[in-house]
Amino acid sequence: MVDLNAQYDSIKSEIDGAISGVIHDGAFVGGKYVEQFEKNFAQYCEVKHAIGLNSGTDALYLALWALGIKEGDEVITTPFSFFATAEVVARLGATPVFVDIDPNSFNIDPELIESKITKNTKAIIPVHLYGKPAQMDKIMELAKKYNLYVIEDACQAIGAKYQGKRVGGIGDIGCFSFYPSKNLGAYGDGGMLTTNNSQIAEKIKLLHNHGAKIKYHHTHIGVSSRLDGIQAAILDVKLKYIEEWNNKRFEVAKQYNDILKNIMGIKLSEFKLDDKNTHIYHQYTFKVTNGQRDELAKELNKHGISTMIYYPIPLHLLEAMNYLNYKEGSMVETEKAAAEVLSLPIYPELESSKIRFIADKIEQFFNLSC
Ligand SMILES: *Cc1c(COP(=O)(O)O)cnc(C)c1O
Repeated sequence: MVDLNAQYDSIKSEIDGAISGVIHDGAFVGGKYVEQFEKNFAQYCEVKHAIGLNSGTDALYLALWALGIKEGDEVITTPFSFFATAEVVARLGATPVFVDIDPNSFNIDPELIESKITKNTKAIIPVHLYGKPAQMDKIMELAKKYNLYVIEDACQAIGAKYQGKRVGGIGDIGCFSFYPSKNLGAYGDGGMLTTNNSQIAEKIKLLHNHGAKIKYHHTHIGVSSRLDGIQAAILDVKLKYIEEWNNKRFEVAKQYNDILKNIMGIKLSEFKLDDKNTHIYHQYTFKVTNGQRDELAKELNKHGISTMIYYPIPLHLLEAMNYLNYKEGSMVETEKAAAEVLSLPIYPELESSKIRFIADKIEQFFNLSC
């Protein structure tokens, strides 16, 4: 799905230099490399504060925790995401409330949110799935009307723009992941929380480091969730390339689109994209509407082409979420998407010839199966 070695080869000397710099300075946890990266990340995302953490999951968890989300509270989110999005809500004793997706964008359908708001609703977590921003204007409008927090799960969408604004800086808090396969991937785990709210930033800075602002002066109960110096130094090198890489992903997606749009049995999402509304294609995902998604995946695999299903089981139907008592059929569009989506390899270094090869095999499959 990705070729991380190809990326490393293209910036090897810079990365190696960054790593040995950290080792030389012994700045392994916190310190100047983390601070430098936080500063550059905040600038890139056009937010006031960015705080490096252990993972994207921790960013989501600490966001909710810092906002005081607790048992009895409800948090509205999408059932079509990575498990962490809902897991963190449950982990705090609050209740995830799922709202079905818009089948075209795969993101939470803002039109369906209002009817799920109760007196216990405290926050909405939109996910910018696959790198395509959720419809934030309507979500922010509802949040204002009902006095709710908005926490953007931007783990798949670093650099994506919504109405000219970078995601992660639109809601109260933005959460990012540097899991190695993400668009901005570390060589291990890592995450970032962004906010324009200084009070929230101060709280996160406390909580993520054992509730101590000054070493050994613990004023709060916190956790240990810090970004490593080596990861920060690596990410700081990579951040310089993120625009270029995201643009290349967009070109890959365009090539796929041009070939796949003519195939019966495949449905592509249709978006209006421009300079102000972008999709950074963390994943390139389409729907197979003739019921042969799994057969297509198998056939591509035979030719050495990897595919993935993000995500095969909607969150509301996962075993861990059984206690919420959602039934099959309760989130029609999400369940349909889970049965029909397929993601193809996408990364900046993916060559045109390979894209052509993959698309050819897909074309052949549908020609033979018709
Ligand atoms: C990757 C991801 C996360 C979790 O990030 P980690 O860094 O792996 O903890 C959360 N939400 C979404 C949508 C993700 O893609």
